[in-house]
Amino acid sequence: MSLDTVGTLLAAIANLLHEGLWLLARADKSFWGPDEHEQVRALEEALDDAKKDFQELPPHVNGQVYYENDRKPESIAELESLHARFNLHIQNLRNWAAAGGAVNPVWAAETAHLRRLLHRAQCRAAARIFALGRESEPRCLGAFLVYRKQRAWAGGGGGGPDAATGGGGGEYGRRQLEELVACNAVGKFERFGDQDVAFVCDFCDGYLVWEDLESMPSLRSVDDRALARADPASPGGQQQQEPPAPPPAGEGVEHWQATGFALSTREEKSVVFAPLAIGNHVAPAPGQWRARVACPFCEDRYVLAQGDDEMEQIRYGHDENTFEDLAAFQGHLEWQHTALPRPALLPSARESCTVM
Ligand SMILES: [Zn+2]
Ligand SMILES: [Zn+2]
Repeated sequence: MSLDTVGTLLAAIANLLHEGLWLLARADKSFWGPDEHEQVRALEEALDDAKKDFQELPPHVNGQVYYENDRKPESIAELESLHARFNLHIQNLRNWAAAGGAVNPVWAAETAHLRRLLHRAQCRAAARIFALGRESEPRCLGAFLVYRKQRAWAGGGGGGPDAATGGGGGEYGRRQLEELVACNAVGKFERFGDQDVAFVCDFCDGYLVWEDLESMPSLRSVDDRALARADPASPGGQQQQEPPAPPPAGEGVEHWQATGFALSTREEKSVVFAPLAIGNHVAPAPGQWRARVACPFCEDRYVLAQGDDEMEQIRYGHDENTFEDLAAFQGHLEWQHTALPRPALLPSARESCTVM
């Protein structure tokens, strides 16, 4: 059985990167072209990234010592295989240093690819520790990092992501863009199949899939209802100079939509605002690849209703509150958290929301 830990394997990988840089540093540079310089840059970036993750991830999982000494079998197996790949990769440079000649331009791309794999392996190692340590938290670590930022903004007063006034202007619009930046730090948007857009989380490998979407909208839709509600005396809130207030809490209506365009028909459609889904996703069930999603609105209401009964929250967070994929989550939002013509809305929607 291996005596390695996350820390020893990461150190061994860092040593390989250092060795690559050392081989390049001591070479005769008089005939160097762009490929050689590119190779140096690629190795330096890989090393910087690895160090950055090594410093930034442990605070989320009980600290450096805990992270370094971790030896969960999946994490060790992943890092061992990655170490072997890095070793093969650096062997190219050892051979090159012995034989001379030009650096193969393909290697730099390979360094960049391995750098990305190492980043994801570190994220997943941290996510495994996080998942074990927080049974009451359904979110994966990647989602939690986004969610925490969103909560901090919401708690900071006025203009948080939950202050549903829509529109792209000023502070509110800026925060929505920051939400997207936070999302891009924990995973990647990519085209998926012919028509879909997916977000792939670096921490849990879960996919969130927006079906039939031309491109991902970066702002929430303007919510006319929120505008109207903000000042009932002025229809549509048109005479307001101040940004309208968020809708009253606990009303059952939440601002979750963004407006995109269907790729197939070019028609407008409502989709779940990406940072809302990303900040609330849950690692895929075993054997699955689609991330699940926990409804934060139901969660909030439940926590409010139940107070501090932690066991109840655990039960709730893991079962009724979690949807099997993004489509199911959107269905729930449309059904339970969308404003309908007022008299028709609630209380029935609200009641069933608590049972769902
Ligand atoms: Zn995740
Ligand atoms: Zn809900």
